[in-house]
Amino acid sequence: MPGFEIFGAEEKQQVLDVLDSGVLFRYEFAAQRKDVWKVREFEQAFAAYTGATHAQAVTSGTAALKVALAALGVGAGDEVITQGFTFVATWEAILDCGAVPVFTEVDLTLNMDPADLEKKITPKTKAIVPVHMMGAQARIEEIKAIADRCNIPVIEDTAQAAGGRLHGRHLGSFGAVGTFSFDAVKTMTTGEGGMCITSDEALWRRMSEYQDHGHDHAPNPGGRGGEGRPFIGFNYRMMEIQGAIGLAQLAKLDGIVAAQKTNKAFFQEAASVLPGVRFREILDADGDSATFLTFMLPDSERTTAVNQVLRDEGVGAVRWSENGWHYYPNWEHLLEGKTYCHGGWPFSAHGKRRIVYDPQALPASAAILERALTYQVPILLADEQKTKIAAALKKAAQV
Ligand SMILES: *Cc1c(COP(=O)(O)O)cnc(C)c1O
Repeated sequence: MPGFEIFGAEEKQQVLDVLDSGVLFRYEFAAQRKDVWKVREFEQAFAAYTGATHAQAVTSGTAALKVALAALGVGAGDEVITQGFTFVATWEAILDCGAVPVFTEVDLTLNMDPADLEKKITPKTKAIVPVHMMGAQARIEEIKAIADRCNIPVIEDTAQAAGGRLHGRHLGSFGAVGTFSFDAVKTMTTGEGGMCITSDEALWRRMSEYQDHGHDHAPNPGGRGGEGRPFIGFNYRMMEIQGAIGLAQLAKLDGIVAAQKTNKAFFQEAASVLPGVRFREILDADGDSATFLTFMLPDSERTTAVNQVLRDEGVGAVRWSENGWHYYPNWEHLLEGKTYCHGGWPFSAHGKRRIVYDPQALPASAAILERALTYQVPILLADEQKTKIAAALKKAAQV
């Protein structure tokens, strides 16, 4: 999965370009910067790569979600639907806008179940945020069709699926906005960083303004200080060094995905020895970014027993139902409404609880995730590691 595995000379040269220019800020300093505009160049390259007309770089994948939601006008009193299997950042961004996250089940794609989405849409739903978890496609065409019928914008959380496609089209380019993360463990990394892509110019303009304190970025004789402010914003600006690293990593992305595909095929073949094994449903294997392999066993007890053997052999798999950061019933701080805000916001307002979550609300997701085991697929995989994994899975097949 992570671009850090192949971090090297290309990233170093890109960073040196920035240091030689002496300018770290993405805007202004035209006289000093020797025509080095790395963040702008990264945005243009990322938009071209994904097939979107516009891209807006920001400080993180979480910021990308926040900026997209803000630009779509989401705020207090609104509901935003996402899935109960995602990283906490997805709903943190929704809460940070003042909106209430509503969670759907996942199906065998391990992404949003469109049938459950339909049940959860209300007149308050102002955005739908499907997540392309673990590098592979949500049922984005179905989700988009439902959303279009209800006139609700879709934001695709593509943080884990850079380089992924569905039927030839890039993930992140189906909805109104696609958001990406380049944090330290993502498929391509800038250390910290994020991107919003869109083919709606007006929406891009709002994101561009929001992530820079409302600056309208219109040329004027007063320079940056003289720019207009159509509305209030915040600071989620990416800096030049991140943009430079992003350019080097983006150039490697298709190679990263190709290497992962080869290594994922190894994991899949090795896991096939397990009796009763089923693999996660992948809608389009060609477009899978192949960052993870997930397989399901017949029941929870068997899954525990198999993973115990794998752990004993030093190659334990990830069991998301035991993970505190990605799975709804384990988000105790969300479920219990824990916040540092003394007024209880966003869970309470004016002394009254406004958001209540039931830990048992997603039984279909639990039934799948309790039987699921996942291996993260590396870019570089040594032969001795392969031998060890294959032997451990053979042993686990005997229990
Ligand atoms: C990593 C991640 C994010 C947040 O990205 P950061 O850059 O770490 O803020 C959002 N959503 C998902 C699904 C992620 O995996």
